[in-house]
Amino acid sequence: MSQLMPAAFIGHGNPMNAIEQNRYTESWTNFGASMPKPKAILVISAHWYVNITAVTAMRMPRTIHDFYGFPKELFAVEYPAPGDLSIAERIVDVVQPTYVGLDEDSWGIDHGTWSVLVHMFPAADVPVLQLSINAELPFDYHFNLGAQLHALRSEGVLIVGSGNVVHNLRLIDFNAPGVGTDWAHRFDDDVRAIMTNDTTELGRASAHGDYRLAVPTPDHFLPLAYVAGLSAAANTPTRTLVDGYEMGSLSMTAYELAAT
Ligand code: ZN
Repeated sequence: MSQLMPAAFIGHGNPMNAIEQNRYTESWTNFGASMPKPKAILVISAHWYVNITAVTAMRMPRTIHDFYGFPKELFAVEYPAPGDLSIAERIVDVVQPTYVGLDEDSWGIDHGTWSVLVHMFPAADVPVLQLSINAELPFDYHFNLGAQLHALRSEGVLIVGSGNVVHNLRLIDFNAPGVGTDWAHRFDDDVRAIMTNDTTELGRASAHGDYRLAVPTPDHFLPLAYVAGLSAAANTPTRTLVDGYEMGSLSMTAYELAAT
C-alpha cells in the first residue's frame, strides 16, 4: 500500500493573514496538524512568477518580504526553514523531460509561501522548496507539470499551491470585509464545481464569462492548475478546506487533495 501525502491549494489573500488569526488561518493550522510530518514542502506560489521554471536549491532560503505599505510587524516575520538540495534534484529528475532549473541564489521563501506556512508549520523545521511559475507558458503546461509531481507525494513531500482563485487587486474594496461581488461568487462557484468533481476540466475556466474580472493576470490562478494536475494524476477530486470572500474581489477558497 503506498501512502500519499496530502496536497492543497491555499487562497492566501492579504499578507496580513501571516500575523492574524481568523477562520482561514485556523483551517491552514488544522491542515498542517492533520498529517504526519512531511519530509519536505514544495510550494508553487503566485509570487514567483518569472520567465523560467526553476526550483529553489539553497541550504537556507531567505525570507522574502515582497510587498509594500504593510506594518513593520509583517516585515519582521522570518520563516527560517531550511532547503533540501537532494529534493530539489529529485524534482528536476521526476519531471523530465520538462526542464526545471536549480535556483541557487535568486529566490527564497516569498510571502505567498510563508504567510501560509507560519500557520501550517509554525516550527519551520520542515525543509521548504519553491517551484517558480513560468509566465510564458500556457495553462496546460502548468497542469501537466503538476501531474508530473505526483510521484513526490509518495516520497513524503507535501505540495502546496498558494494563490487565489479570484484575485483582482484593482477592484479591491477595503470597505467590504468578508464580501465577494456577484461575479466573484459566480466564478468561484463554477471553479469549485470543477475542483470537487473532475479537475481535468479546470482548463475550461478561461472560457468563463467572468474569467477576465476574476483572473486579470494568471499568477494567482495558476497555482491551482498544479493542484488540479496532481488531483488528475491521483484520479481523486479535491475537497473544499475553507471558503469565503474578502474585499469584493478576492476569494479565499482552499482545496485539499486528501492523503490516501
Ligand atoms: Zn498573493
